[in-house]
Amino acid sequence: MKKTSTRLADGRELIYYDLRDDNVRDAVDRRPLERTVTTSEIRRDPLLGDSVAIASHRQGRTYHPPADECPLCPSEGDRLSEIPDSSYDVVVFENRFPSLAGDSGRCEVVCFTSDHNASFADLTEEQAALVLEAWTDRTSELSHLPSVEQVFCFENRGEEIGVTLGHPHGQIYAYPFTTPRTALMLRSLATHKEATGGENLFDAVLESELAGERVVLEGEHWVAFVPYAAHWPYEVHLYPKRRVPDLLGLDEEARTEFPQVYLELLRRFDRIFGDGEPKTPYIAAWHQAPFGALEEFDGVNRDDFALHLELFTIRRTSGKLKFLAGSESGMSVFINDIRPEAAAERLREVAS
Ligand SMILES: [Zn+2]
Repeated sequence: MKKTSTRLADGRELIYYDLRDDNVRDAVDRRPLERTVTTSEIRRDPLLGDSVAIASHRQGRTYHPPADECPLCPSEGDRLSEIPDSSYDVVVFENRFPSLAGDSGRCEVVCFTSDHNASFADLTEEQAALVLEAWTDRTSELSHLPSVEQVFCFENRGEEIGVTLGHPHGQIYAYPFTTPRTALMLRSLATHKEATGGENLFDAVLESELAGERVVLEGEHWVAFVPYAAHWPYEVHLYPKRRVPDLLGLDEEARTEFPQVYLELLRRFDRIFGDGEPKTPYIAAWHQAPFGALEEFDGVNRDDFALHLELFTIRRTSGKLKFLAGSESGMSVFINDIRPEAAAERLREVAS
């Protein structure tokens, strides 16, 4: 893997990750771009204690551009995009319309491939391994920024999920605080550790799921299952069998096997609803230990956290979406119409 860092015309950082070590990336961004003014502001809700990023500058962002104006395709002749070079393998750059910026963190875009019409599931294992390298490297780099406490790599796929650009890409949010969902997990970890005299809750969950009926896919180093209390119609959690707090902790064996396991999972997701359906919309979310202090979570260390990926779709059946309506949006109580055991069975049926 070769890494080349450069700057776009407005000063934003862009990094090429190349499969070949002899690729030279010296193309210059020729667009007359002005520096964007970002006014991202974090406000804390006094009653709930959670944080909201107020990012009003995002209203002007690119919205469903035609394919020949895609800002994530490589630049070609006079058609200038966010990527100055005429080709790339994987590229990461700072979002021009970030939800988090400056003291409030950072937002990056990860382009998985230069092929506009592909999906992550279409990547080769070699390409998927390169994306994993990029996620890992960005997690490391972003964790060193003084304003960053947690790094979140994710992909939203499909218009139904609100994706405004069709080009296969994901995002990285670097938050200046520990996110509420991670805080909930850390609290559960602390409570369980205290109650059991030191047992790790992630280990206990993994052990019980491995012995149960909701395992979807198992490799030598990874296991994927539908969780006992799945929130979404089809939801899979993917864990490395050896617990590590973040992507940086994965060993070579786990890294080598990851593309195989993850690509198979994504391909199964596209087959859940049968042929002739538009591709399954999904969210793929990496959960990593925060880099900030963990004092408020009694006795919990970074190493107690278990890196894992949560993959889920908002589609519940052909042509029907699961909306976050009154109970979910109003009270944070999820109603799931599909038994997790049935979802797991379906995800085994559609194996390659
Ligand atoms: Zn494109």
